[in-house]
Amino acid sequence: MKVCIHRGSRQIGGSCIEIAHDGARIALDFGLPLEGDPADKALLPPIRLDGLEAIAISHPHLDHYGLLHHLRQDVPVAMGQAARRIVRAAAPFTGQALPRLEGFTLAHRTPLDIGPFRITPYLMDHSAYDAYALQVEAGGKTLFYSGDLRGHGRKGGLFEQIVSAPPAGIDVLLMEGSSLSRLEDDDVFPSEAELEEAFVRQFRATAGLSMVLTSAQNIDRVVSLYRACKRSGRTLIIDLYAAAILEATGNGNIPQSDWPGIALFVPESQRTQIRKNEWFELLRRHAKRRVFPEQLRALASTSTVLFRPLMMADLERADALQDAGFIYSQWQGYLERGAYATTQAWLARHRISMHHIHTSGHASPRDLRRFAEALAPGALVPIHSFAPDKYAGLFANVVQHPDGEWWEV
Ligand SMILES: [Zn+2]
Repeated sequence: MKVCIHRGSRQIGGSCIEIAHDGARIALDFGLPLEGDPADKALLPPIRLDGLEAIAISHPHLDHYGLLHHLRQDVPVAMGQAARRIVRAAAPFTGQALPRLEGFTLAHRTPLDIGPFRITPYLMDHSAYDAYALQVEAGGKTLFYSGDLRGHGRKGGLFEQIVSAPPAGIDVLLMEGSSLSRLEDDDVFPSEAELEEAFVRQFRATAGLSMVLTSAQNIDRVVSLYRACKRSGRTLIIDLYAAAILEATGNGNIPQSDWPGIALFVPESQRTQIRKNEWFELLRRHAKRRVFPEQLRALASTSTVLFRPLMMADLERADALQDAGFIYSQWQGYLERGAYATTQAWLARHRISMHHIHTSGHASPRDLRRFAEALAPGALVPIHSFAPDKYAGLFANVVQHPDGEWWEV
C-alpha cells in the first residue's frame, strides 16, 4: 500500500490523502484550506480522478470536504448518511455549492470493501456530527486515519471505547494534532458537560434574553444549550436553518423543532428566502412551535436564542434586547480575524457585553497521547496540525512525510 498526503502534513485544513494499491486508488478527505476560497480550482489536490475508486469523507466540516463540488467526474463519495443529509440541508441556507455526494455509506465499525481496500469506519467524538476515523486495509497492511477527534465531548464514550479496546496491528497511524499549537502539553480542554454548567450559570445571571453564538452544526453544543435551557427555565429559540440541521441528524435523541422547550423563530431575511425558494413544506414541518416577532419582547427573559448575525435587525425591531446577555461559543480565531466585527459593533451599540463559553472540537495533547499509545502504530505520521515538529517529543515512532511525497506502508 502506498500513501501520499497531498495536503495536511504541516497545516490544519484542506486535508487530502491518496492511497494506492495494486493499481487501484482511493482518497481520504477532499478539504478546503482554512483561508481558502471554495471557488478556487487552483486549490484542488493533484489527484488523477480518472479511475479513482472513491473519496471517503471523514466528517462534514469544510476543511475535510469543501472542494468536492469541483468534481465533475463520476467519483463515488463515501461518507456517513447523517453527514450527507447535513451537508444537503445546510447548502441552500449557506449558499455553498452542493457537491455530488452519492456513493458508499460509512457506518460505525461496519467494514466496506472498495476495490482492494477494506475501509472500517469508527464513529468518533468531534464537534461535527457523524464523524469517523477510517481504518484502511490492503495488501496485508493497515493504515489508520484519525480524522478529527476528541475525548471531552458528549460522545466521549466512543473515545474511551477505542482507547480501551483498540484495533490491533496498525502499521501506520495518520493522527491529527490540532491542539498541539493551541495548548501546552499537559493542558486539557473543558468538557461539554462543564460547558453546560457554565451556560446554566450565565443564563441564570441574565435578566433578559440570552443569545448564544454557535454553529447549529455543532450538535453536541446545541444539546448542551438545550439541557442548560431546561435547567434554567428557558426556551431555546432556533431559526429554520438550525431546525433543518437538527432534523438532518435523523437522531430522535437530538433536540428537534417540535420538542417541548424549543421554539422556531424565522428572521425576516429567512422569510424572504422561504418565499423565493418556496420552502413552504420545510417551514410547515418545523412550525409547530413557531414564535413571531411581536412575541419576542415578552418571551425574552425566559428564552435563549441560538444566535446568528442575520437576527440582529429582527431582535432590535422586536425591542427584545433589554438586559440581554450574549455568549460567544465558537473558536476564538474567528473573532480575532474579524469575522464578527459587525456583531461586536452591534453589541457595543446596545451595551451588551460578550461572554465566552467554548471548548475545542479536538483532543488535548494528553488525550492524543492516550490515543497514540493505545493504537501503538508501527509509524505515526503527523497530519492536520500546525505543529508537526512537536509530535516526536510527545509520541513514539513518529515519521514525518511532507505534502506530495509517496511512501510505502
Ligand atoms: Zn473537523
